[in-house]
Amino acid sequence: MSQDPQVPVPSGESARRQELRSNLETLKARLARAQETRHVGQGPATLIAVTKFFPATDVRHLLALGVTEVGENRDQEAAGKARAVPEANWHFIGQLQSKKSNSVVRYASSVHSVDRESLVTALGKAVRNHRETVQRAATQDDGGVRPGPCAHRDLECLIQISLDASTGRGGVAPADLPRLADRLAQEEGLGLRGVMAVAPLGEQPEASFERLYGYAQQIRQDHPGADQISAGMSSDLEEAVRWGSTHVRIGSGILGARPVH
Ligand SMILES: *Cc1c(COP(=O)(O)O)cnc(C)c1O
Repeated sequence: MSQDPQVPVPSGESARRQELRSNLETLKARLARAQETRHVGQGPATLIAVTKFFPATDVRHLLALGVTEVGENRDQEAAGKARAVPEANWHFIGQLQSKKSNSVVRYASSVHSVDRESLVTALGKAVRNHRETVQRAATQDDGGVRPGPCAHRDLECLIQISLDASTGRGGVAPADLPRLADRLAQEEGLGLRGVMAVAPLGEQPEASFERLYGYAQQIRQDHPGADQISAGMSSDLEEAVRWGSTHVRIGSGILGARPVH
């Protein structure tokens, strides 16, 4: 496999890092090819490595290999890894219970899975509380409080849309999207940055992502800053990029098959 000439492989590199390096090259080549088949939008799509079930040491390897964006879908696991590797940029991509908001805002720069007004309320409040805590810690010289990304900028929020009738995989029904977008845009501490979806089972992903693109355009009319589309996983990144994905979320395609749980 060809190596980037700028980044020589260190001779003492661990087997795991070599494996991740090789997977990453393969994935990036796929992404570059997909980029050339775009129907809409502009690239390149940002690569988010989904590290769920894999240890913080893998996140460190990925950082060393130039991947800065990391995604997790469970708060408990994410919080631990984010404490271990605060240099990475953490994206929360899974279904989120409102009561976990206080934890998530301490480490996440974005939440891709906002799908209801009660969660908007909880996240906004959590960001504002967190900022107060950080400020208080600063005046008391308490170095134990990590500011995290939300201390100084809005928590970037994407609205997860359910692309099939069932909401089992999370996501707001398309009919409720405009109202939720307006609500989110008004919440202090949160920034509406776009939409996210997981392609439903039992349909060609291309058709799903084409619909998602339509919804993305719809909310951009009222919210021009909502220009992100988080779509595409290891199995369907090509279809997602074709239909305007700006952020692909790739787990197994980089980290390998997830350990059975
Ligand atoms: C696990 C996960 C991914 C990555 O899935 P792969 O098929 O391993 O690439 C992407 N998005 C969400 C919401 C996930 O939970």
